[in-house]
Amino acid sequence: MDLRIAHLYPDLLNIYGDRGNILTLYQRCQWRGISVTITPLSVGDNLDPAKYDLYFIGGGQDMQQIKVCDDLLNHKRDGILQAVETQAVFLAICGGYQLFGHYYQPHEGDRLQGLSIISAHTIAGHKRLIGNVSLKRPDGTTLVGFENHSGQTFLGQNTVPLGAVMEGYGNNGEDHLEGAVCGNVYGTYLHGSLLPKNPLLADELILKALSRRHGPQSDLPPLTDTLEHQAHQKALTFKS
Ligand code: GLN
Repeated sequence: MDLRIAHLYPDLLNIYGDRGNILTLYQRCQWRGISVTITPLSVGDNLDPAKYDLYFIGGGQDMQQIKVCDDLLNHKRDGILQAVETQAVFLAICGGYQLFGHYYQPHEGDRLQGLSIISAHTIAGHKRLIGNVSLKRPDGTTLVGFENHSGQTFLGQNTVPLGAVMEGYGNNGEDHLEGAVCGNVYGTYLHGSLLPKNPLLADELILKALSRRHGPQSDLPPLTDTLEHQAHQKALTFKS
């Protein structure tokens, strides 16, 4: 088996350690003898949806989002939509997450149209939402991370959140929801990077992506994850 990852705009959307998510996906596969290819796709690069099973897009400041937006809508949109329709896995962090919604309205300048893959919209607020975040998913498991955004994201009526905020702000600091899950598309504000301290989520993404190309996989060979779980538990004690 092999895992084929497309890293979207790594030169532009990569702040607060988001590249650590790619390193985590790579390493957790390597430890299991699963080979991994990682292809960077930035502005002007063609996206062939048949080539990849997992896509990662990180966060960025408004300026980087503006640079990405045109390419996302005019050069990669069809390929991404086809990937979504064929159950590819997406992890979108913060600025990347915002661009997977209907739109992002920055403080200044024009509204940035999104891909509308996640039914949500984002409006820049007057307060930056910064600090440690912890949340509880519907299955009772927890996620931890760090957030730094001015955008307030409001989910559509039927959009499923990634989880309920226990500590921190989350999507908007008002409805106590964080992130969004739409099929195999995961959006979240959790930087940190997210996956090293959340091994259950990392393996959830890997399993779904492998199953897409290699047929249903019931589980992955277990890893000890002692350090990962210690870091997760420690982060659960952090206050924002
Ligand atoms: N520029 C966006 C905001 O401030 C996203 C920031 C980020 O990706 N951390 O909300």
